[in-house]
Amino acid sequence: MTCRIEPAASRSPAPAGPPLPEPLGWIAAAWGEIRARGLERRLRLRTGRQGRAVVLDGRPLVNFGANDYLGYAGDVRLAKAAAKAACAEGFGAGASPLVSGHSAAHDRLERAIAELLAVDAALVFPSGFAANTAAIAALVGPGDLIVSDARNHASIIDGCRLSRADISVYPHRDMRALDAALVASPAAQRRLVVTDTLFSMDGTAAPLADLCEIARRHGAMVLVDEAHATGVFGERGSGLVEAAGCADGVHVRVGTLSKALGAGGGFVAGHADLIRWLAHAARPWIFSTAHPPAVAAAAWRAVELLAEEPHRRHELLDRAADVRDRLAHAGISVGGDAQILPLVVGTAEAAVAAAAHLADEGLFVPAIRPPSVPAGESLLRASLSWHHSTDDLDRLVRGLLAVAGGRSGA
Ligand code: PMP
Repeated sequence: MTCRIEPAASRSPAPAGPPLPEPLGWIAAAWGEIRARGLERRLRLRTGRQGRAVVLDGRPLVNFGANDYLGYAGDVRLAKAAAKAACAEGFGAGASPLVSGHSAAHDRLERAIAELLAVDAALVFPSGFAANTAAIAALVGPGDLIVSDARNHASIIDGCRLSRADISVYPHRDMRALDAALVASPAAQRRLVVTDTLFSMDGTAAPLADLCEIARRHGAMVLVDEAHATGVFGERGSGLVEAAGCADGVHVRVGTLSKALGAGGGFVAGHADLIRWLAHAARPWIFSTAHPPAVAAAAWRAVELLAEEPHRRHELLDRAADVRDRLAHAGISVGGDAQILPLVVGTAEAAVAAAAHLADEGLFVPAIRPPSVPAGESLLRASLSWHHSTDDLDRLVRGLLAVAGGRSGA
């Protein structure tokens, strides 16, 4: 099978339409405020596939703006697995999993995820976002307590809100504050500690060993989101729980199939009874059509590739450490510990200007602004992929040094 990439023209902004109907008039004012704060977002048109380079609005750029850490998003092996499954099982899942949407491809994928994580069972969701909201709201409810890291992802935050449990937010990675929140809570409450394992905006890792120990002392449940760690960390590539040796202390493991695994969807994995409970209580799984079997088949192929190509994750992390060291040598401190390199710039306008400068140098390094990060902490986030060449990384280092005002020529 050959995959031809059709060129597509870049899209110009949509022309202004007729005035808003009166009941929607408030949008004009809200929109004005967004623009005034420099938070307007523009949809870029990508032509062709994700890879080390990407064409955005017709402009070819070295791609530091995808979560395609292992380079599988554009891999023809995933596309072939998807095509084969689509031919065998059809494209649409046609129903929610409990009705008739749970295909052989989903079943095989769930078993493969459970094996990868060395747990009993897994449940696949149409997205990682749905997996987080579903799992959290299925585990706690009104009268219960969630203790959540201040930098957790929006899908965790929304899951907490959806649950209607009490929410206690502790400062980023502050284990004393986590402990204090649990000490202050009545033991009768069901208590859930939730954290990203690799924080998407900061590139930092959660202190999992300490967190699990604190939760254990208080008899609290632990749910972790491995979205950015799945496929990248651990001997088998299952994530930071595996790398930290904390599997016994983590009760609920959420992950995505959409980032390092290059496909789409999310999962929750753990004890067989937990998964059975979710299949009766996780509303976004029960009341939503299963994601297409072809997507499940592509994700399954990616899980297989994790075992076949461990060098990809090792090389990715080695190169990330090297880039971080080179920047540090030049006096530029980028945060984080992994393949995500955040350079805090400050205002939203400054971040956008820095990203535009890098684009002029041929590099796509997206500006991250509120609400993804707090006001005044806008940043450039460079996500490394296994596909990047030495030259790509040299250009990134030079570009970041230039926008940070550091010494050039590193
Ligand atoms: N958790 C984290 C930490 C994420 O960064 C994301 C996506 N950006 C998600 C969950 C949601 O995953 P998905 O894109 O598969 O919905």
